[in-house]
Amino acid sequence: MAEIVLKHIVKKYGDGFPAVNDVSLDIADGEFMILVGPSGCGKSTLLRMVVGLEDITSGDLLINGNRVNDLAPRDRNLSMVFQNYALYPHLTVFENIAFPLRLAKGQHSEEEVRDKVTTAAEMLELTEHLERKPSNLSGGQRQRVAMGRAIVRDADAFLFDEPLSNLDAKLRGQMRTEIARMQRRLGVTTIYVTHDQIEAMTLGDRVAVLKKGVLQQCASPRELYDQP
Ligand code: ADP
Ligand code: ADP
Repeated sequence: MAEIVLKHIVKKYGDGFPAVNDVSLDIADGEFMILVGPSGCGKSTLLRMVVGLEDITSGDLLINGNRVNDLAPRDRNLSMVFQNYALYPHLTVFENIAFPLRLAKGQHSEEEVRDKVTTAAEMLELTEHLERKPSNLSGGQRQRVAMGRAIVRDADAFLFDEPLSNLDAKLRGQMRTEIARMQRRLGVTTIYVTHDQIEAMTLGDRVAVLKKGVLQQCASPRELYDQP
């Protein structure tokens, strides 16, 4: 579980205009925060800074009150789900989901790994597919595997970077429902980047709107989209 606080976060690539410009945001423990805005407004950059895949130029990133700017990704205990799934093609579904547990060397017995992967697979209806390779799965199943890998290791927070944008409309609807259900069940703090207004309206406790790296507003979907 985690409270994530961004204080005056700035990201400059080289000496250009800041990709993220003085963003401050308080994400409560268990909150589902949506990040929207036009292409190039800094959504991915912000997410990558939170997970630790991108250096923060200035400002403070606090997780449960601790400044984590200088912590390596592996020490932040956050799980990120990418748009392109980023599955390992040569590994089975089981081993793809187990991967984060195997990275944490010596911390999980084989029995524990099996238990955790089985539980995640059940939640995501992947039990029948555990021995298959990603190339033999549908887009929706691949996305489920990517989510399985994210939820398998008791992360403090989930970070989603447009996870559904490669799926067709019908699957997108199904997966949206599943993500909502999973997040409620696990109660894990979530930051979710999307272009899709339906996702923003239905999934989020709050929606943060970025434009040219600047936070324009942050409000509940009601306040944001039900305006007269
Ligand atoms: P979004 O996810 O909202 O589409 P990004 O975070 O990908 O936006 O990009 C924000 C800005 O930062 C854009 O102007 C983009 O061109 C720039 N940018 C992103 N990644 C890099 C990089 N690795 N090097 C230089 N500029 C980058
Ligand atoms: P390196 O250059 O050190 O190989 P990587 O980007 O491969 O850097 O990642 C290093 C560490 O970051 C890994 O040990 C992994 O735990 C963590 N990491 C990488 N991608 C993610 C992600 N999507 N979500 C959470 N942690 C990640």
